[in-house]
Amino acid sequence: MVCNLCPRNCSVDRCKSLGFCGATNEVVVSKYMVHNWEEPCLVGDLTTTRRGSGAIFFSGCNLRCVYCQNKEISGSVKGTVYSVEGLADLMLDLQNMGVCNINLVTPTHYSNQIRKALDLIKGKLTIPVVYNTSGYEKPEEIEKMRGYVSVFLTDLKYFSSELSQKYSRASDYFEYAIESLRVMLDISPKMVFDKEGILQSGVIVRHLCLPTHRQDSIRILEELGSRFDKDSFKLSLMSQYTPEFCPEEFSQLRRRITTFEYESVVKVALRIGFDGYIQDKSSASAKFTPRF
Ligand code: SF4
Repeated sequence: MVCNLCPRNCSVDRCKSLGFCGATNEVVVSKYMVHNWEEPCLVGDLTTTRRGSGAIFFSGCNLRCVYCQNKEISGSVKGTVYSVEGLADLMLDLQNMGVCNINLVTPTHYSNQIRKALDLIKGKLTIPVVYNTSGYEKPEEIEKMRGYVSVFLTDLKYFSSELSQKYSRASDYFEYAIESLRVMLDISPKMVFDKEGILQSGVIVRHLCLPTHRQDSIRILEELGSRFDKDSFKLSLMSQYTPEFCPEEFSQLRRRITTFEYESVVKVALRIGFDGYIQDKSSASAKFTPRF
C-alpha cells in the first residue's frame, strides 16, 4: 500500500522505496529512555509516585528541519527494528519502570503500527500515551488517534510559508499544523491532571523561538490566541535553540536568540494571557540535547 500518511503525500510503497521521512514499513526505534527534560506536568518530580517520561524516539522524520538537534536519527533511519508485538512490550516495560507516560517522539510515519501495538495492550497500559509531534500532520490521521492518545505535545514552528519552506521544505506547514491542532483539541479539549499534578489528558503547544524571526513567533502566538480558547491548552515557549546543527548557508540561524528577541516574544505571550511554561533563556545550551 502506498504511503500518504502525512502532508508530504509521497505515494510510495514503503516496502519498495523510501519517501521523504526515510522510513520503511518496519518500525525503527533509535532509543528509548526515562526522559526527565519534558514539561514538568509530563515528568513529575521527587514528590510524585511516578517519575520521568517513557520516551520512545522513533527513527526518521517527515519534517527534517535544517537546524534539527537530532539529525542523527531524523536525517536517516537507524536503530533497532521492532515488531508490533515488540513495540507493545517496550511500552509495558517502560510502564514497569515507573514512568508517568509513554511519550511517542516523532511518531507520524509509524502511526498505523503504533495503534496496532496499543490495541495489543489495551487494559494493560494504564498510563497516558503522549503523541509528541512536529505538528506537520494531516488532521484526518490525528483523528485516528482518538481513543489511543490522550496527551498531544505538538510543535507549532512557523506561521510564514516562506520560512517553513526555507527551513523545512514544507510551505504548507502552518495550515496543516493549525488544523491538526484543532483536531487534537477536539480529542482532548481540556487539561486534566491527576492528584499529583501529572497530565492525564490535554494539549501542550510548543514553540521554539528562532533567531532573527521573532515576528513569526509573535504571529504564531496571535493566531493561537485568536483561533482557540487559550485556557484549553498550555503553551510551552522555548528558548533552547542552538545553532551548532545548522548548516552555514542558513546564516540567519547561525547564532543563538538574543535576550531582546526572546523577551519580546515572552511579552506577547504574557499579554495574550497564555497558561503554560516559559523556558529560562539559560537553557539555550547544547548540553540539553539528548545524545543518541
Ligand atoms: S509518512 Fe513518510 S512516506 Fe508517508 S507521506 Fe509522510 S514522508 Fe512520505
